[in-house]
Amino acid sequence: MKINEVVNKNLCFGCGLCSFLDPSIEFSQTGDFNHPEAFTSCFHCPNFIFRKNKVLQNHDNNYFGSFYKLFLLKSRNPQILSQASSGGFITDFLFFLLKAQIIDGAIVTIKAVDKPWENQIQIIKDYKFLEKNSLHSRYTQASPLIKVKELLKMKGKYVFVGKGCDIASLTKLRKVNPKINEKILFTIGIFCAHQPSRQAILDYLKDKKIKLSQIKDLNFRYGSWPGNLKIKFKNGEEFSDSYLNVWPNFLAKSKYRNFRCDLCPDGFCEQADLSIGDPWILLKKREAGSVVILRNSKFYPYLQKALKNNIFSATKIDPAFIIKSQQALVFKKKKMLPRFFLLKNLSKINFSYEGWNLPQIWQQNSLLEKIKFSLIAFLFYLKFLLNKPAKSPMK
Ligand SMILES: Cc1cc2nc3c(=O)[nH]c(=O)nc-3n(C[C@H](O)[C@H](O)[C@H](O)COP(=O)(O)OP(=O)(O)OC[C@H]3O[C@@H](n4cnc5c(N)ncnc54)[C@H](O)[C@@H]3O)c2cc1C
Ligand code: SF4
Ligand code: SF4
Repeated sequence: MKINEVVNKNLCFGCGLCSFLDPSIEFSQTGDFNHPEAFTSCFHCPNFIFRKNKVLQNHDNNYFGSFYKLFLLKSRNPQILSQASSGGFITDFLFFLLKAQIIDGAIVTIKAVDKPWENQIQIIKDYKFLEKNSLHSRYTQASPLIKVKELLKMKGKYVFVGKGCDIASLTKLRKVNPKINEKILFTIGIFCAHQPSRQAILDYLKDKKIKLSQIKDLNFRYGSWPGNLKIKFKNGEEFSDSYLNVWPNFLAKSKYRNFRCDLCPDGFCEQADLSIGDPWILLKKREAGSVVILRNSKFYPYLQKALKNNIFSATKIDPAFIIKSQQALVFKKKKMLPRFFLLKNLSKINFSYEGWNLPQIWQQNSLLEKIKFSLIAFLFYLKFLLNKPAKSPMK
């Protein structure tokens, strides 16, 4: 499949891998969704074969993937906790790894300095940066892979933080580029329902009559979990709105969703070394925490070191905790097989999913679910047929 087909059929998830492998490809970071501009072939685009590699030695869960240990971890640093998305695990773990000189840097997504409603990708090398700039979920377009090429000029070991599609692309890149492979110590993945278009937050701000020129700072998940969208204005005033309003009523609307996200089996970011999400089962109690799926034993010593240093409060959790906390992601996977089947077989798009257990998951659905999900898949396919490319079409 050529890249123009991936983009024109709205199947590009904007990882940026193609422009990394072929620097002549321009990568657009304006418009609704990030995507490459040029007509070319990229046989490494993870869309052709979206593969999950098998990890042996571990427990396996059909819905959220393989795991070695499961935790609910909460940062003990009140400043990080108040600014991070869930339990501040990612920010505080990176803080610890950098301070202890276990890593030399981390590739992360942060707010763009001069346009805080947009994102920028940064390689953080100094733990002090995180004292002032706690990380949090950035619910707008981000392509962390575009920064990875800078590692080629750097010495040392790095952590990469990204969504399932980012990690899938990095996994491919590591196979074809040994230099990058040796620079990445491990990967941290975030659970992901979908990544809203650039227009989503712009429409929200317009709805609230907030002008971009007034904004000094914008955090999507500020304050006590699950947090608020918080805006600081240049005149010193502040605006805040509950995440529980902003996500379902604006950012999650289907018009802001990349079509490819509705076809994504990797909401739990199964190829990362650690995958992190929200403990939605604790919403009534408002108890913050990061659900942490440690995928393999290799990286457990780093986590143990952080736990020995008393950085987090830690609770062991079981698979049921994750399933109950992530019903939306579980249902997405339960619905996936007929969507994928229709798209692949009726539209003759030459792509494949490997290792995602979709047939086994489908078999576990009740008869009623199978009927319901098949009908939804049919509507999904109609949407695909009627869909105009979200990006400017390529020839
Ligand atoms: C688009 C999106 C969709 C999500 N969907 C879900 C969901 O369905 N269910 C769920 O439980 N959790 C979801 N999350 C993850 C959740 O919001 C938290 O990021 C996660 O729980 C980690 O929290 P934390 O406090 O440990 O991390 P924090 O300390 O808040 O750190 C957040 C980390 O996420 C990275 N990051 C932020 N935005 C992006 C981005 N756009 N692309 C790549 N990396 C990014 C940052 O670099 C940072 O390292 C989503 C996050 C995003 C960005
Ligand atoms: S999914 Fe990634 S590699 Fe494929 S076309 Fe889009 S940006 Fe390029
Ligand atoms: S839903 Fe999947 S494809 Fe979409 S941004 Fe999240 S991980 Fe990437």
